[in-house]
Amino acid sequence: MSKKRGFTSAILHSDRNLNPEFGALHQPIHTSVTWGYENVSGLLDVFQNKARGYAYSRQGNPTVTALEYKITQMEQGIATVAFSTGMAAITSVMLALVKAGDHIIASKYLFGNTRNILHTFSDMGIEISYVDATAIGNVTTAYKENTRIVFVETIANPGTQIADLERIGTFCREKSVLYIVDNTMSSPYLFRPAIVGAGLVINSLTKYIGGHGDALGGSVTDTGLFCWSEYSNITEVMRQQIKPELLGITQIRKKGLRDGGGTLSPEAAHSISVGSETIALRLDRICDNAMHVAEFLQKLPGVKKVNYPGLTDHAQHKLASALFKGYGGLMSFVLDDKIDILGFLDRLNLIIKSSNLGDNRTLAIPVAQTIFYELGVERRAEMGIDESLIRLSVGIEDCQDLLDDLQQAMQLKL
Ligand SMILES: *Cc1c(COP(=O)(O)O)cnc(C)c1O
Repeated sequence: MSKKRGFTSAILHSDRNLNPEFGALHQPIHTSVTWGYENVSGLLDVFQNKARGYAYSRQGNPTVTALEYKITQMEQGIATVAFSTGMAAITSVMLALVKAGDHIIASKYLFGNTRNILHTFSDMGIEISYVDATAIGNVTTAYKENTRIVFVETIANPGTQIADLERIGTFCREKSVLYIVDNTMSSPYLFRPAIVGAGLVINSLTKYIGGHGDALGGSVTDTGLFCWSEYSNITEVMRQQIKPELLGITQIRKKGLRDGGGTLSPEAAHSISVGSETIALRLDRICDNAMHVAEFLQKLPGVKKVNYPGLTDHAQHKLASALFKGYGGLMSFVLDDKIDILGFLDRLNLIIKSSNLGDNRTLAIPVAQTIFYELGVERRAEMGIDESLIRLSVGIEDCQDLLDDLQQAMQLKL
């Protein structure tokens, strides 16, 4: 191919490059659990990593492979492994790449379930430092001899803080530490973590990539930037059998996916794959809607504060403008004390009270009473989570309908 295709063209025509049967435009849903071989040597080659092929669907399936190719193209990486959920992707990466005695530096603003699974790993002897990753100094101070991984997200949920992505990348390269970026909030359409030096990129496919709230999925993409032969936790067997650049992703596929078993179903892979075709269109609309909603909320009497990277008063607004193609669909806002937060939410007619994000539909949730409920009032106060904080995941509705819904729910005499 002479010229590299654009983001959407590449996704739309990706399956055809794999030559599906009868000229199909989509990779079919392959439900077979296992594959038969004419000669046993064919099966041996697959087991011994000498040939590409399928043995058992837990560790590889053609429908899932087609989706993995798409994500690899979106992130412009070298290979991707898909999982049943974003959490399965994160857990599997940890299982595959860390050992007791290792140290991980993680953002203190991580997605709640990610933070919980890291707590579980710390019970198993992995040391974790949680830092405010919006400032590089906190990451460098936390660094130790046994630091193996720095783990951050692009835009934090629900506070929308943005990690100091580029400087952390430079630091990780200097120290030969693996830099993992969870790109779920921005998605590869708005941002590619490879440009700041991430070695692995995680996406919850459930969110913007699938986009329709009808399938769970997760992925890990190797950007090709990390030198795996220097990584201490690559097994000896792996080193003998696998090309150096594929050591990391192969160990994730084997120790993470095959042994961990968090396999993406071919049906879900198909839904996500079809959903991903319109990610650019959806996100352009979502970002546009979100900007309007954020500006509207900022002026709406009854709203005390709005957190959205597109607003000029956001602490990392300049960084977001420099790195991202758009500011995303997630925001959070604090209501005045005199407004009953639950009443406000109940008065919303169009916007759905729901915990997901990245759906085509706009979803709202009170943060302290739900996703941060278990922390209790004191921990929430420490973390700067207001009791009247609402998270909004903006969808693709007609924007005026969203503004009207928010306005009528406020029920103030204007
Ligand atoms: C939702 C989410 C996950 C987990 O993904 P699931 O597909 O729900 O398991 C991980 N990281 C971030 C930033 C998320 O928003």
